[in-house]
Amino acid sequence: GFLGLYRNYLNLLDYSERDTLTGLRNRKTFDENIGKILGNIARLGSDGSGQRRRPRDGYQHWLAVVDVDHFKRVNDQFGHLYGDEVLLLLARIMQESFRHQDRLFRFGGEEFVVLLPNINPDKYQKPLENLRQTIKSIPFRFRDARVEITISIGATLFRPGDHTTDVFERADKAVYFAKGNGRNQLHHHADLVAAGHLADDAKIGDMELF
Ligand code: GH3
Ligand code: MG
Ligand code: MG
Repeated sequence: GFLGLYRNYLNLLDYSERDTLTGLRNRKTFDENIGKILGNIARLGSDGSGQRRRPRDGYQHWLAVVDVDHFKRVNDQFGHLYGDEVLLLLARIMQESFRHQDRLFRFGGEEFVVLLPNINPDKYQKPLENLRQTIKSIPFRFRDARVEITISIGATLFRPGDHTTDVFERADKAVYFAKGNGRNQLHHHADLVAAGHLADDAKIGDMELF
């Protein structure tokens, strides 16, 4: 009986949805939420005529990966506890930066994911760019010194037929580009492809399939 209770308790822990430091949704919850969104896209993709169409009203789903710049330095210079405080504050600012229906996840140590469902294609950039600027302007302090914290952001549009890893990897590649180009930047994966900075992985994916 005790073992049964204990197993239930472990299951509860396993299914807890929140990250313990920031209170944001955790990676496990991310996998579940993104599955739902991808499922919706798949349903919307077919209207019975066999024709693919975009989500309602031409609105689209976006995913952004947010990674803190040089966070290892923050820990090295000011200590892990200070690093934790920075993460907490960043999480709080992010929670205030997005719409009610947007979803925020702590994906890894200093890496976050934002889901922006049903957003006008022209409008996805504004909240992300605002977030980047807000973080940069926050007067973090350590003793008497000003500490500047910046973030790099990669964004991508969900495509019909995307798997979780596809959409995440595109956003991550855009972050990687920002890291190699001075950090503290927001990049849209499709823009980087159009500019010739990244390969079009849709084509690569097709080639691998056939
Ligand atoms: P980059 O700009 O390329 O992203 O550099 P970075 O230093 O941020 O990236 P890197 O991945 O090398 O290091 C991430 C660091 O984040 C390493 C790890 O010590 C720290 N970290 C991860 N999780 C936590 C945490 O919960 N608390 C604290 N204080 N630090 C963490
Ligand atoms: Mg980092
Ligand atoms: Mg990282």
